[in-house]
Amino acid sequence: MLVPMQSVKECCYNAAMNDNFPQMCERLANELRKASRILCLTGAGVSAESGVPTFRDAEGLWEGARPEEVATPEAFERDPDHVWRFYLARRQNLVAVRPNPAHEVIGRFEQIFPEFDVVTQNVDGLHQQAGSERIQCLHGDIWIDRCTECGHEERATSVAEARPMCPKCGEPSRPGVVWFGEMLPPGVFERAVELASLAEVVLVVGTSSQVYPAASLADFAKRNGAFVAEINPNATAFSASADLVIPREAGKMFPELESRLAKIVQK
Ligand code: NAD
Ligand code: ZN
Repeated sequence: MLVPMQSVKECCYNAAMNDNFPQMCERLANELRKASRILCLTGAGVSAESGVPTFRDAEGLWEGARPEEVATPEAFERDPDHVWRFYLARRQNLVAVRPNPAHEVIGRFEQIFPEFDVVTQNVDGLHQQAGSERIQCLHGDIWIDRCTECGHEERATSVAEARPMCPKCGEPSRPGVVWFGEMLPPGVFERAVELASLAEVVLVVGTSSQVYPAASLADFAKRNGAFVAEINPNATAFSASADLVIPREAGKMFPELESRLAKIVQK
């Protein structure tokens, strides 16, 4: 399935939510308890409480830059130094960043549930740091340098001063992330679709559901009969389709969910 990454306008859904947070967590815990296959779809919001800015926090800017000037193949062709400065600064910002309670609980869920997978749009590596191993990274990994000539990939272990060159052929490398207009890594989206079609419960966490094809996964799971819960303090393009919306920060919801699950198991 070859689908380039693209963005659509936010759907104007604005639900008035009752503030019954404990009951919502209880309901979700019960759904999880019954399920044998669970999928967690995450976006930039799951890392927000770790201090990583989300995509379009401030007036359409992404960490101070216009996405089309730093996150497209055309931008890289036009001015590779400018694009690399942006990504090296993002790597520098990530050096001191740690997983938050949401990443940690999601990491532990992999040990608790027999079939628990994560599909993330994030490139920050925080799920992996928190122990998630069954993970599909739809948009790549910010710490990978990929050669523009021979395709060789190298994991950066520190933040370089200048833009990296390929250690194999000496040609310029680029960040190993998926830019707007580019295809997702081969096989990754296909696996994500498979997981979405098999899942009985899907958690949609911290994504505005605006970036495609990632945003299509929750709809697809829903059409395949999954119970889909959204965890996001703000309404999104997907909220109206969700079976349950928990309007809370992921770092607050997941610890509550984990403790409710523990109580259900003890009963
Ligand atoms: P987005 O920025 O479009 O949306 C973030 C969503 O998270 C919003 O709906 C917001 O309400 C919600 N949110 C904010 N704080 C939250 C919290 N504490 N708990 C739960 N939800 C919270 O993000 P997106 O939908 O992931 O799309 C962004 C694109 O940019 C993706 O393609 C991604 O690859 C990239 N990106 C990645 C990172 C990262 O790796 N951390 C950061 C920024 C952007
Ligand atoms: Zn090379």
